[in-house]
This record gives sequence, C-alpha cells and structure tokens, in this order.
Amino acid sequence: MTRNEDLFSRAQKTIPGGVNSPVRAFRSVGGTPRFFTRGEGAYVWDADGKRYIDYVGSWGPLILGHADPDVVRAVQQAAAQGLTFGAPTEAEIELAELLVKLVPSMELVRLVSSGTEATMSAIRLARGYTDRDMIIKFEGCYHGHADSLLVKAGSGALTFGNPSSAGVPPDLAKHTLVLDYNDAAELAHVFHQHGRDIACVIVEPVAGNMNLIRPTPEFLKAMRHLCDQHGALLIFDEVMTGFRVGAGSAQGLFGITPDLSTFGKVVGGGLPLGAFGGRRDVMEKIAPLGPVYQAGTLSGNPLSVAAGLATLQKVMQPGFYEALTAKTLSLVDGLAAAAKRKGVKFCAQSVGGMFGVYFSDVVPTSYDEVMACDKEAFNRFFHAMLEKGVYLAPSAFEAGFVSAAHSDADIAATVAAAEACF
Ligand code: PMP
Repeated sequence: MTRNEDLFSRAQKTIPGGVNSPVRAFRSVGGTPRFFTRGEGAYVWDADGKRYIDYVGSWGPLILGHADPDVVRAVQQAAAQGLTFGAPTEAEIELAELLVKLVPSMELVRLVSSGTEATMSAIRLARGYTDRDMIIKFEGCYHGHADSLLVKAGSGALTFGNPSSAGVPPDLAKHTLVLDYNDAAELAHVFHQHGRDIACVIVEPVAGNMNLIRPTPEFLKAMRHLCDQHGALLIFDEVMTGFRVGAGSAQGLFGITPDLSTFGKVVGGGLPLGAFGGRRDVMEKIAPLGPVYQAGTLSGNPLSVAAGLATLQKVMQPGFYEALTAKTLSLVDGLAAAAKRKGVKFCAQSVGGMFGVYFSDVVPTSYDEVMACDKEAFNRFFHAMLEKGVYLAPSAFEAGFVSAAHSDADIAATVAAAEACF
C-alpha cells in the first residue's frame, strides 16, 4: 500500500468520503486522491514524496504559486499581531480601497470568508433590493453551495428549477430559473415572460466550472440589456475569474458593468476570503445601513486580509497579466500541437491564467457541447499525466490554472509529458 492509499483509507473512517470537499475524492476520474504534504512555487509533493507540476493551484487562489515568500511573510506578520478581533482593522480598509479602485463597478464592498458566502449574500441583497424572489442562473455554472443555487433546469427550458442536491426544498428551488449559457434568445424569452418577478441574473462571466466556456459578446450584451430593461440586477460571479483573467477581472476584459460582483480565490491569496460589492445604492441596503442581513465572525480576518493584500500588490505589477496570459497560451498551444502530432482528437483554449482542455474536435461553447466531450479519454489522460508528475484537476469538467511560478521549462515539461501520454 502506498502512503496515499493508507491515508485515504484512514481518512474515510472519520471524514465523509475521506475528503472535506467532494471533487477532491477522485470520484470522477477514479483512483486514490493524492494527499499533499508541501507546495512550493509551481510544485506540490504528495505523501509518497512524488513531485507534481500543479495546474490546480488549490482551485484558483494560488496565482503566485505555492507558499509565495511575500504572501507567507505578510501572513506571519499579521498572525503575530493577533489572529482575529471580530472588530474593524485598518488593513480591511486598505483591501476594500484597493478592490474598489481595481474594480470600478464596485463602489462599496463587503468581505466574507468564502465564495459561497459572497454569492449567497449577493443573491439575498438582489432579492431585498428589488423586492422580487426569482433568480436566473445558467446550467453548468457553479456559484457555491447555497440552497438557491443548487438547482438544475426542470424538464423543458421554461419550467422552474428543481433541486440538484437532496436537502434543498423544492419550494425554494422553484424560484431559480436555470437557462442555457450563451443562449441570448432563451434569456430574452424568459425575461419577456417573467421580467417583473426576476431579481437578478447571476453568471460566471467566463464559465470555469464546466471545463472552460467563453461567453459570446451577444450573450454578455443581452444580459446587461435585459436586466436594465426589466429592473433586475446583473451579478457577475468573479470568484474564479477575479484577478485571474486580467487586472480588471472579466468585467474589465469584456467591458461589461455588472450591478454586483462576487470575488473569492485570488483575492484571499490562499486563505479563506470572499467579497461582494457593487453599486452604492444597492450595497447600502446591507445591514447595518439597510434591511438585508449579512454577517460573519471571521469576516475580514487579519490573516486572510494580509494574504489578499500581499497577493493583489504583486499581481498589480506592470506586465503581470501579459506574462501570465502568454504563458497560459503557450501551454494550451503546446498541448494542442502535441495532440495533433499524435492524431488525438483534442483542443484547448485559455483566458488569462485559466484554461480548458477538451477531448473533442472543436472548442465547446455550450453545456451540451462540453458534456459531449470524451470523458473516458480525459480520465485516461489525467492518470497518465499524474504518473508523469503533472497534477491536473481530477475531473473533465473543471478549468485549469497557471501561476506566475510556472516557468517556461515547466510548460515545456508538461507539453512533453502530454505528448507521451497522447
Ligand atoms: N463561484 C464560483 C464561480 C466558483 O468557482 C466557486 C468555487 N469553485 C464558488 C463560487 C464558491 O466558492 P467557495 O468554494 O470559496 O465557497
């Protein structure tokens, strides 16, 4: 038995499925999850001492790589001054000031402790502000595990949503309409029918939870226009795309101004932190100013804030996103060229520092097209790459992440490994 196997069987005795978040369990790809003992830069080491080039980066936060010395130092310094006060601190103001400067659509911002909290709170705020119950989300987008968001489409596009998890009351799920990503016509039709009842549209402005799907310009424009026309709020869930696809996040990249935005991952630099913010008149409805309740014992805690500030200060250096974007593009181009040389049906694309790989002839643009990719081929590829020391997300339906710590040599080694696997 390897040490990873040993730990996995021990974990399952006290932790459901042996993991504290389901996708870690390798259910989709099969096999034994790797238990990590250490990370440095682009690399992680597992319990058997094997090194991997890591393209998960803790699912997005580690844009500077593992254990970035500046981030670690900032956290250590903050920790020495006290872990949490449950009272305001100056560093929180600094982070809020930086966020509203970098994201012009945010006039006010509140810090929370996870992406789930950020989206859950933004939805409650949108409902409270508009005094409407219904929300629209898109199939394949993930916005955390709040009840209103664990909803899948009913049978037929225009029916109300059904729970996608046990424990979510159908009475609650029915307020969530689930539509097709990139289908502007369907969205217009639904607004035409239900416009007066719709509080908000929430969307991943680049979808990263069904592999990677780019939004079409028409889809983005339709969302903004229809929300304006019907008095609904547009929420960009930038938990994954925030400071990942560019300095202005997805909204900056595409030139669309949402009413509310949610952040997580990169803004916390690897510690638990999320944020939601937007228009002043909307955000002023939040307690203690307004009637929409939202709170958190550890919200804005000094360690997360220190990690977030240290991370954002580094990504704001001139040229950071140009270099990250070019590096990520060189990875996907290299992978696609290697597959072509081996005659494998495969394609790949990237946006900033996030990427998607697909076992299909063409890059998918919808949930149905992603689902039609060859999942078995991905699973074989995943395990072959793991064997060669490359750690990809353990599911065909997740985006990958490149960090500033990945060197050209790491990218070249990854492409060489992939060619052998293909
Ligand atoms: N929104 C998006 C777009 C996400 O990708 C995620 C996490 N993968 C979340 C929300 C939830 O964030 P968290 O896991 O921090 O609760």
